[in-house]
Amino acid sequence: MEKEESVLHAHVLVVSFPAQGHINPLLQFSKRLLSKGLRVTLAITKYFAKSMTMHAPTGPIKVETFSNGYDDGWQKENSTEEYFERFKMVGSQTLTELIKKQESSGDPISCVVYDPFLSWALDVAKELNLVGAAFFTQSCTVCSIYYHVQRGLLKLPLAGTEISIPGLPPVPITDLPSFVSIFGSYPTILTLLLSQFSNIDKADLVLFNSFDKLEQEIVNSMAKIWPLKTIGPTVPSIYLDKRIEGDEDYGFNLFNPCTDTCMNWLNMKETGSVVYISFGSLAELGVEQMKELALCLKDSNNHFLWVVRQSEKNKLPTNFVEETLEKGLVVPWCPQLEVLSHKAVGCFVTHCGWNSTLESLSLGVPMVGLPQWTDQPTNAKYIEDVWGMGLRAKVDEKGVAIKEEIEACIREVMQGAEKGKEIRNNAIKWKELAKEAVDEGGSSDRNIEEFVALLCGAPSRCL
Ligand code: UDP
Repeated sequence: MEKEESVLHAHVLVVSFPAQGHINPLLQFSKRLLSKGLRVTLAITKYFAKSMTMHAPTGPIKVETFSNGYDDGWQKENSTEEYFERFKMVGSQTLTELIKKQESSGDPISCVVYDPFLSWALDVAKELNLVGAAFFTQSCTVCSIYYHVQRGLLKLPLAGTEISIPGLPPVPITDLPSFVSIFGSYPTILTLLLSQFSNIDKADLVLFNSFDKLEQEIVNSMAKIWPLKTIGPTVPSIYLDKRIEGDEDYGFNLFNPCTDTCMNWLNMKETGSVVYISFGSLAELGVEQMKELALCLKDSNNHFLWVVRQSEKNKLPTNFVEETLEKGLVVPWCPQLEVLSHKAVGCFVTHCGWNSTLESLSLGVPMVGLPQWTDQPTNAKYIEDVWGMGLRAKVDEKGVAIKEEIEACIREVMQGAEKGKEIRNNAIKWKELAKEAVDEGGSSDRNIEEFVALLCGAPSRCL
């Protein structure tokens, strides 16, 4: 009884980096914590709060804001370097104030779950004598690669053709995260990614939006170094275990989804007949790549639903939308989970962002990977070679996947008799394993229970 009471009193502050692919998993994890009896406050930056539209209520999750020094947005004249420096300086200060405000209002924080893009948040937590848990929004595989670089165990620029890390199969350099494989491509972002591990040894827990069976060997290997727990996939409960009432959507959206248009259109289509295409919230395709994909879709026999963000629309070939009205729908943003779970969707052509990958896997939709940058090439390798639930479109010497290649991949994934069949079967298998992980007694469910138990044992001032 005593234990239960302390759990009920534990108050967790979840601190998110301001990006769609970061807030989604952190918010979902918050909902899981809430369902286990904890109280949760989600901290986001002031500017991010202003730019988001909230589509679903966050329920009893309180949302608080802190400043990163850019409350009116980031001006182009500030360099990325300046942005992250100021974020750290002002963020550390205002996050500390936020935590102290909670304490003085009689609602003290016991634990900070922080996005390691904001590694300084762990220093804030430790300064205030709170439990600090890192929550990575990329795969354990990708994070272990960055960790090895940060510790000097993998030296950049990389030599040879592949790397070898305990717990990973040999990974060709071209399949590594782009910031590592293309040395010097985005030095500030690489510095940020490596900084995630600068103070990781101080974290009381290291959480991953993944599940044990998905990345078993690397999870086992990194668990020897970190107090590691997988707690994912953080796809809304309705699509997996259905145990959290009302958890049907992420709740926050950077863009307005064209829900009715998409769902009405999909409702008219036959089972497994639609190719869904999206490159997430950030990736920018080259004009040439856009053209090859457009040509492929225009000439294919399949219906297609293509998310082309407003900022990307000018790259579409002239009259493409008008000329493909019969078979295609192009929208600036869609409710991706609803789309992927619709029976009409037979294949997802994706940039292989980690959230999109986990969503497709959790909903059993086979993928065709067109990775663009960052962690996407590594995710694409795993989709094809390790999980066997998709194909990665090969690129030519200019880095472009041509029409015929994309066409062949889509055909194989949707209709292929041998390889394609195996891919579709694996997609069903992974969907079941994802559900098993978060369902009662599954590996992620147990890990979340253990996290809650850790908070019960935290110093009394924290609870
Ligand atoms: N998403 C969405 N509607 C869209 C495209 C994407 O809701 O039209 C969501 C998608 O479900 C995922 C997130 O945006 O949760 C994208 O995250 P991901 O890690 O895949 O890519 P990123 O945007 O970070 O590159």
